[in-house]
Amino acid sequence: MPRIVSDALVTLFEHFKEMQYEGIPGVMRIKSKNPGPIVGITACTHGNEPSGLAIFEYLLKEKNIEKTLRCGTLYLVINNIRATEKFFDATNEEEIRKSRYCDINMNRLPKEVLRLPDDSRYEVLRTKQLLPIWQCFEFGLDVHSTLDPSDPMIISRGEKFFQNLVHGFPIKKLISNIDKVQIGLPAFALYGKPESDAKIFAIEAGQHTDPRSFERAATCAMALLENLDMLPHTQQAVTTEYEEYYIDDSVTFPDLSFDLVKDFKSYEEIHKGDLLARNAKGEEIRSVFNGHLIMPTSLRGTAKDISEEITFISRPVKMHRA
Ligand SMILES: [Zn+2]
Repeated sequence: MPRIVSDALVTLFEHFKEMQYEGIPGVMRIKSKNPGPIVGITACTHGNEPSGLAIFEYLLKEKNIEKTLRCGTLYLVINNIRATEKFFDATNEEEIRKSRYCDINMNRLPKEVLRLPDDSRYEVLRTKQLLPIWQCFEFGLDVHSTLDPSDPMIISRGEKFFQNLVHGFPIKKLISNIDKVQIGLPAFALYGKPESDAKIFAIEAGQHTDPRSFERAATCAMALLENLDMLPHTQQAVTTEYEEYYIDDSVTFPDLSFDLVKDFKSYEEIHKGDLLARNAKGEEIRSVFNGHLIMPTSLRGTAKDISEEITFISRPVKMHRA
């Protein structure tokens, strides 16, 4: 077990994976006596990202949410149970990194995931198993974190940003449209009934095992439940500015011979024509517009993973006042 994670989280996870709702493991449903919104908070879409578990720990132990939920229904879900088991069993950095998923990245699901009849890959099976739960969500928050230290981010589906729901989140950066640009489907694309106006988004709470990411994630969950009047309000009204980074492109590598030309920082400003990557043969990848690099990989040389985006590219940042 990685020492970076507290015994309390290990215990919580052990308890949680035994929990079932309608025969589906890793799902807890908390229903208030009063009618209200149906909210889903999902943790560990990636096994090595424990911030969502920290939310569950906080809501269940500190906030006694089973007693204090004022209205509506709250689902707490561990999306990728098996990868999270791998994470808790990991004994070194390499094993921790590999505990992101088992067979396929649950945030890069094949677009036809629901129509794959004989696919036994764990994440495909788990997606199909969770679908009836995910589709119940009228409001959904999927909780992630990042490998590299990074400012936290709100991730919207397309351009749908719900300012009233994220009021009080300790996050100032908004990443929009990434789900339209990325390879495959992120899990949260399947939340809510198809064509419904379910309000779904994700957060990147910060670096994976930074205690500040855990705290921030818990603050976001509390703020969401307060904004929906499911918990009493504790926060003052404040005006907030958001920086929106609209993702409009990404860099993928056709083969391992390519590498970024340097260690780029997330949000680093780039200009049209800037050289981003090249290979030994002199083939180049350049930016096609002015903007920013979002979540460029820090893995270079032989360590890099070319099955996923090497970096996303956003249009120039836009300010929003909320
Ligand atoms: Zn993630």
